[in-house]
Amino acid sequence: MTTGMLVGIDLGTTNSAVAVWKDGAPQLVPNALGKELTPSAVSLAKGGQAWVGEAALDRMATHPGDTATSFKRMMGTASTVTLAGTTMTPEDLSAMVLRSLADDVEAMTGERPTAAIITVPAYFNERQRRATRRAGEIAGLDVRRLINEPTAAALAFGLADRGDREPFLVFDLGGGTFDVSIVEMFEGIVEVRASAGDNRLGGDDFDEVLVKLALTLIDDTAALDALPADRRHAVLTLAAERTRRALSSAQEADFTCVAQGQSLTAHITTEAFENAAGPLVKRLRDPVIRALRDCHVDVRTLSDIVLVGGATRMPVVRKALTRMFGRFPNATVHPDHAVALGAAIQAGLLSGGQGLEEIRITDVAPFTLGVGTATRDQHGRYHDDIFAPIIERNTPVPVSRMERFRTLADNQRQVVFSIYQGEARDVKKNVKLGKLTVPVPPRPAGEVSVDVRFTYDTSGLLEVDVAVPMTGMTRNLVVVDEEDRRTQKDVEARRKALEKLKVHPRDEADNVALLARAERAYEGFTGQVRDIIGAGLTEFQGALDKQDPRLIADARQGLGQLLDQIDSHSPL
Ligand code: ADP
Ligand code: MG
Repeated sequence: MTTGMLVGIDLGTTNSAVAVWKDGAPQLVPNALGKELTPSAVSLAKGGQAWVGEAALDRMATHPGDTATSFKRMMGTASTVTLAGTTMTPEDLSAMVLRSLADDVEAMTGERPTAAIITVPAYFNERQRRATRRAGEIAGLDVRRLINEPTAAALAFGLADRGDREPFLVFDLGGGTFDVSIVEMFEGIVEVRASAGDNRLGGDDFDEVLVKLALTLIDDTAALDALPADRRHAVLTLAAERTRRALSSAQEADFTCVAQGQSLTAHITTEAFENAAGPLVKRLRDPVIRALRDCHVDVRTLSDIVLVGGATRMPVVRKALTRMFGRFPNATVHPDHAVALGAAIQAGLLSGGQGLEEIRITDVAPFTLGVGTATRDQHGRYHDDIFAPIIERNTPVPVSRMERFRTLADNQRQVVFSIYQGEARDVKKNVKLGKLTVPVPPRPAGEVSVDVRFTYDTSGLLEVDVAVPMTGMTRNLVVVDEEDRRTQKDVEARRKALEKLKVHPRDEADNVALLARAERAYEGFTGQVRDIIGAGLTEFQGALDKQDPRLIADARQGLGQLLDQIDSHSPL
């Protein structure tokens, strides 16, 4: 097949990664800085200058109002952010990250990828999935399939030895989302038995808890409180994340930040942090229990607990897991790489990669799909907006299911079906996907029946057919297509708009990242340290202005070493 290059992408809340299927194995692609993870961060400046990844993340401290992170949490909503005067949707921001990953692939292979497998949290709803697909299109990538992150991780885990496996559990705790899947492998079939999760739980939440804790320990927060709100938030969360990482390898750590030239410190012990994080840790239980229950697997029969996601490095999480499962989790897959590698395996599967002939994947619908109905109780009172599930969560896909409904009122002229996704009995608490109306002949209540068929395919495309057997009347709705048609023009327009943004050329990536880092350091310190960083910056900028490659290389090395030294003495 020569349909252009297909890559696998883990588009994460905090970090993203891209991998390709090459020479019979999945392979991660390094970014311009030589790293395998690219922070999902975008920063803009007036005039259309753009930063993506590491440099953008460093600009979070110095230009919080012009920088966006964690935008995956906004996917599928109408929220936008305005960075340096440019309004960006979550799809736009994600597209910037995707484009940067595509650049990395092109730099490594010499070929521009044209298509991608993108991973999404299993618990992402229809709208969030559609938004992800759109982000790919805006980035100029044909999104061939969205696969669930734990499914991808399971693929990477299972491919290691290709043996059959009893059900195992994939536990993925990232920056902003938490996913659990129960997976089984048998004769080359990777079967996802159940998925559950919480798409509002991750490392970010632990940062928030740590900020609250630190603020109770800092005597005088006046300097912090004098900062503009976004700046204050950026300074505090950056400090919290550093502290949290430090607590992964030490019993205690200092939470340090600088505000208005004043250095503020709080001493954090593991015990204090773990107490504060207690409520979050409790929330890890529910999805695990739900997933096990949905596929009728006993926790004792699980063959492995596979850890994925950077936040599973936290000892407080590992301890909770060991308690929950009564054993130590498996750490054979790299928690940061598994998802992207799995996506590349899926890419290999789709393009007929050698060595993959025997593998197939089956997945499940991660949420319940159904319609809103009314019923009448014993006293003849109507109850509106009650959810009637048609495809239950964790049903293997593809699937087609039919339900029969009856008219509720005498001489009713039409039946309206609102289509929802979710688990709540009150449909207003679920996500509305669309609406279908079908005319019915006027008859006494209950005499006319209407059949509703839901068909859900492997890419998460839902099709709804409604038929009135009495009249032969039918109605059809392809839920995804309708929305896509409306936004197709949009995609083109956004692609053009984003292409106008000036992302720094690849060969300058090192310099750009170092500048952003040095500026962050400069703003974070006062006094002598600040002067030294300032001098280093002046030197480096001078070399850049002269455009002499040797001078630049020397100055870059000098400044880099200086910053490393400062970093190792007192956390920035
Ligand atoms: P996502 O899938 O959401 O992009 P990742 O899997 O990359 O996220 O995980 C990012 C999270 O992992 C962040 O909250 C980060 O703070 C956390 N993390 C990474 N390394 C460590 C560590 N050594 N200790 C504690 N947390 C870590
Ligand atoms: Mg992830």
